Amino acid sequence: MYQEFETVIGIEIHAQINTKTKMFCRCDNDSFDKEPNLNVCEVCMGFPGQLPVINEEAVKKGTIAAIALGCEIPEYCKFDRKNYFYPDLPKGFQISQFDEPLSEKGAIEITLDSGRTKTIRITRLHLEDDAGKLSHVPGGSLVDYNRSGTPLMEIVSEPDLRNSEEAVAYAREVQNILRFCGSSDADMEKGMMRFDASVSIRPKGEDKLYNRAEIKNLNSFRSLGAAIDYEAERQISLWNAGEALDKDLTVGWADDAQKTYVMREKEGSDDYRYFPEPDLPPLHSSKEDLDKLRKMVPEMPAQKRARYELEYGLLPDDIRILTSDLYTAQYFEEVVSMIKDPKKAVSYINTILMKRLNEDQIPLKDSKVTPKLLGELIAYVEKGEISNNQAKGEVFDEMYDTGKEPAKIIEEKGLKVVSDSGELEKVCQSVLDAHPGPVEDYKNGKDKAFGFLVGMVMKEMKGQGNPQMINDILMKLIGN
Ligand code: ZN
Ligand code: MN
Repeated sequence: MYQEFETVIGIEIHAQINTKTKMFCRCDNDSFDKEPNLNVCEVCMGFPGQLPVINEEAVKKGTIAAIALGCEIPEYCKFDRKNYFYPDLPKGFQISQFDEPLSEKGAIEITLDSGRTKTIRITRLHLEDDAGKLSHVPGGSLVDYNRSGTPLMEIVSEPDLRNSEEAVAYAREVQNILRFCGSSDADMEKGMMRFDASVSIRPKGEDKLYNRAEIKNLNSFRSLGAAIDYEAERQISLWNAGEALDKDLTVGWADDAQKTYVMREKEGSDDYRYFPEPDLPPLHSSKEDLDKLRKMVPEMPAQKRARYELEYGLLPDDIRILTSDLYTAQYFEEVVSMIKDPKKAVSYINTILMKRLNEDQIPLKDSKVTPKLLGELIAYVEKGEISNNQAKGEVFDEMYDTGKEPAKIIEEKGLKVVSDSGELEKVCQSVLDAHPGPVEDYKNGKDKAFGFLVGMVMKEMKGQGNPQMINDILMKLIGN
């Protein structure tokens, strides 16, 4: 019998907190491009007898992220040892949080391509330290402990996601939120954010959760989506063959083959023999501490989206582009602060600038057109000093290539519209004197003749007269 299935997905995100030092020692937390095993000490190498000390900045940034994800922060939390053996874990245990985590019960809203929104519940955000990094080379394995002890936030979602599109939208939104609140750079190319996706299927209409496969260590949005699609299809085939999963599995993702592969039966929390970390005191946060941190949480993407719609009347598609990352939102807001019409900023950023940058595959951050320059350019248009066409055309093109200030480009190209009424009046009068025929025609009701006169003045001015002023002056002079 043909059966329809629903996919049920929950995601665990590990994100490195961007602190100066590691979670429990004073080693430098930035090991990008550093020689292996340079940023290490007795604590993060797990030497016997060393005592960890909690990094206050990590707790603060973790708490801010938890608040930004809508989580509740209990007054009390503690650290626990999660015991397992692996060569990248020299202590023999990870310091994590088990039954009393830093935060619980959050929720965020995601927006899908169709414009539909959905609320995804977050089970918890807790703190832990990262393991080292293994690289497998011919003849053996190498281990780099630079990453060992890096502060991590583990963010666990409820199984509220139903397909890969929702999963990727959720992961992107979390990345955005962590960046907006400044707690993590969440750069996946540098391994700062990684996903584990738990996937199960069930016949449509059922509420029951069936056995799941947890796909470990996905390190891009693309592989997150592809792995979920593959695994869901695999489970449906198994089910249809009468071989549905009869236990929870831990699986890996082979990016080259675009396939999941079974690694082992999934370990449960009992397997880790969690117990309270005896070397660390529990953390207490007072209401006052939390209120202070709450005030430090800046405007989040969802709030920005709502404000751009309400305050500036922008369209959903434009809003989505402008809030796609923190830098773009900041860029937009800086331009808006310099000009009168926010919609002008949208059209210059989304249509003109982004179009060129996309063609040239340059990220906005590296654009020579800084928000200050773009704001200046639009301000010139708003003041009527150059025309919209000049601004969008030759001035923008030159600014895009060279990063020169609009004032300079306008001067160099001799583009500035003449708004000097004395000068304009002189030219208008001479045109009227030279063309008595059309002046007569206009006085006799031939409106076309007026257009001819404006055109003649513009020609004299080489296209640089302020058109509104020319109109007004001609009217006035003929009227007399
Ligand atoms: Zn260390
Ligand atoms: Mn973890």
